[in-house]
Amino acid sequence: MLLEMSQTPGINADGFAPLRIKKVVRETPDAVSLVLDVPEYDSARFRYEAGQFLTLRVTVDGQDLRRCYSMSSAPVENDLQITIKRDPGGIVSNWLNDTASEGGEIHASPPEGRFLLRATDDEIVAFAGGSGITPIMSLVRAALAGSSRRIRLFYANRGRDSVIFADALTELAERHAQRLTVVHHFDDDSGVVTAPAIESFINGTQDADYYICGPGPFMDAVESTVLKAGAPKNRVHLERFEIAPVSAEDAESSVATEEIIIELDRKTTTALYRPGNTLLQTARIAGLRAPSSCETGSCGTCMARIVSGNARMLNNDALDDDEVAEGWVLTCQSLPTSPTVHVVYE
Ligand SMILES: Cc1cc2nc3c(=O)[nH]c(=O)nc-3n(C[C@H](O)[C@H](O)[C@H](O)COP(=O)(O)OP(=O)(O)OC[C@H]3O[C@@H](n4cnc5c(N)ncnc54)[C@H](O)[C@@H]3O)c2cc1C
Repeated sequence: MLLEMSQTPGINADGFAPLRIKKVVRETPDAVSLVLDVPEYDSARFRYEAGQFLTLRVTVDGQDLRRCYSMSSAPVENDLQITIKRDPGGIVSNWLNDTASEGGEIHASPPEGRFLLRATDDEIVAFAGGSGITPIMSLVRAALAGSSRRIRLFYANRGRDSVIFADALTELAERHAQRLTVVHHFDDDSGVVTAPAIESFINGTQDADYYICGPGPFMDAVESTVLKAGAPKNRVHLERFEIAPVSAEDAESSVATEEIIIELDRKTTTALYRPGNTLLQTARIAGLRAPSSCETGSCGTCMARIVSGNARMLNNDALDDDEVAEGWVLTCQSLPTSPTVHVVYE
């Protein structure tokens, strides 16, 4: 394995800390779990809530890459575990599946994310597709251990051999038979998940929290069906693993922008704008060390406030409606839409 021990313990200047791989668990031919050993001196920084993720920093064939992976463990359990499913043609997921080994080391930045349980006893209705089971598993484990909430889980996979945590889920459903119901859906048997299947699954739910994670089309189908069935928007929690690429239409909307004024660390910089770039990319090209982590609109590390001008977010899984109304944006996902934008990292 190409991972090596670093010289300096704790968080490095780049915000990433070396963590030892304590155990490698082959979940399916296409998915692996890594149990990570957090040293005592980093335990406070790596404390997490169920549903959060780590950002890994890896070097593959000389490329410095960052990818997010959700915890599949729950904080009530001792070991922090992430689970990685191969993305066909993907660099990091295949590299981790092929090369991660016990005793190796991996660089991770502290847990982030807002795909979290609310403090309530209302029912949980969860939808997972493929690798989307990872944060859902964390939520299910935490809710079973730390509350009396009832949970329904709809878990879609292409076929039986791609079900991650099959045995663990069966065991949990048996142990908590009055509280946890797991329904498996296999595309090989019944085709892709349809609105009627989702409607039938949520039938009879009241005052529930909905958690959805999986491939984009699956998430869109579940979200729209659940909302149409009357679930309040603030009860529908989404964790997106994939970000749609910048469309020609989105890139077009930023053509009129000429400059971005950026305030960072009490310094103001005026940067010329290149169409199609995000505010974060613009800051970097201007030589600024603007904060960032996941770069997918999930963590909120890159948030800044727009004090004049406008920008459009391509994806936002981190800011709530009030923050957006106050002018906060995720700069990694923001394309400017006015001739000048003035953005402040506070
Ligand atoms: C908050 C969050 C949490 C996540 N949690 C998990 C998790 O728990 N488990 C998990 O498995 N994943 C998770 N992900 C997804 C993960 O971060 C990676 O995106 C995923 O593993 C793919 O990374 P990769 O390097 O293997 O693929 P990449 O190399 O990034 O490629 C991604 C896809 O794009 C295609 N592609 C790449 N380049 C091109 C090109 N030039 N033209 C056309 N297609 C191309 C590849 O074939 C591949 O299908 C999470 C993502 C987020 C944002």
